[in-house]
Amino acid sequence: MSAARARERFAGLTDPGLVRTHNEDAFVVSPPLFAVADGLGGHEAGEIASRYAIDALVQAAPREAEPKALARAVRAANAVVVEAAEQGRGREGMGTTLTAAMVEGTYIAIAHVGDSRAYLLSGGKLERLTQDHSMVADMIRAGQLTEAEARRHPNRSVITRALGSDMNMLADAYEVEATTGDRLLLCSDGLHGMLTDTEIARILGSYSDPSVAARALVDAAIDAGGQDNITVIVVDIEGERQAHEAGGASADAAATTRRWASLLLWLVVAAAAVGGAWWAAGSYARSRAYLIDEGGRVVVYQGVAGSFAGIELSWRQVESTVPVTALDPTTQARLAEGIPEANLADALEALAVYRARVASASPAP
Ligand code: CA
Repeated sequence: MSAARARERFAGLTDPGLVRTHNEDAFVVSPPLFAVADGLGGHEAGEIASRYAIDALVQAAPREAEPKALARAVRAANAVVVEAAEQGRGREGMGTTLTAAMVEGTYIAIAHVGDSRAYLLSGGKLERLTQDHSMVADMIRAGQLTEAEARRHPNRSVITRALGSDMNMLADAYEVEATTGDRLLLCSDGLHGMLTDTEIARILGSYSDPSVAARALVDAAIDAGGQDNITVIVVDIEGERQAHEAGGASADAAATTRRWASLLLWLVVAAAAVGGAWWAAGSYARSRAYLIDEGGRVVVYQGVAGSFAGIELSWRQVESTVPVTALDPTTQARLAEGIPEANLADALEALAVYRARVASASPAP
């Protein structure tokens, strides 16, 4: 179709997918600001966390694309989510990812926390602009997992950094000098968990209209199973960056040169990258809990099952006398694997329910 009217050069779309009843993702498309947030915590808490994060980001975003300033806005959004949880809006243990981009001409500033992603399609080649803060991403970097194995790993949804649990959370910040004709994609793991990068690249490059490309990506993730909420933002890169600072000439020069070598990464934890990831994993883990069958009894742990980079991520809290065999077969099977709960209170509540079930099933003494 030869479009007489100018089409938008960006589009955003979200879909709950086929399995989840709620959509815990949120996004904003408000040029020059674009962002995706993927809420965690269940029971509607994830929706609250991602919505608060996006709203706070919009409030705190800098006027001009600048990675460190954008990272500060992400930290401000974190503070809002932490405070909301503390004040009982939403739930303790709720959190969210946040991947934000500001686009000025061909210049892109990015700030990022969690396992949502930013990609750039350039000359038919798809490049990941962000690094996932997830347990499986760290295992891939350590050579312990392949991408394909990570896709099926039981801990694939465990993220090592998120908004909502730690006032001192830090955001990664990047800047990218793209070229006209490139295409920026922001997405939640409901997209990149269902499609390979090759599939994403093919679909993203197949439709000239960003809104058609966004729809096609969401549809492909649904066709692949749609196991999670899916959010995509597609932005066509064009034009030139306005020179803001006195050094306008250098900004012009930057606009014409692709500077992949200068792709900046302020992993603000700096040299403590590895230690930071461990610490972050521990900090995330401490807010969680799970129940598991241990020697035929239900045991409650605080943390997440398993160890990460040699560090135990869980601490035994309650060794109950509830016999696993007295519970229904589905619960027994789930307990064998471990049943994750958002926090310790929820895990103790579940244990109380099991105890009551066992008591009512047993004959009175
Ligand atoms: Ca998700």
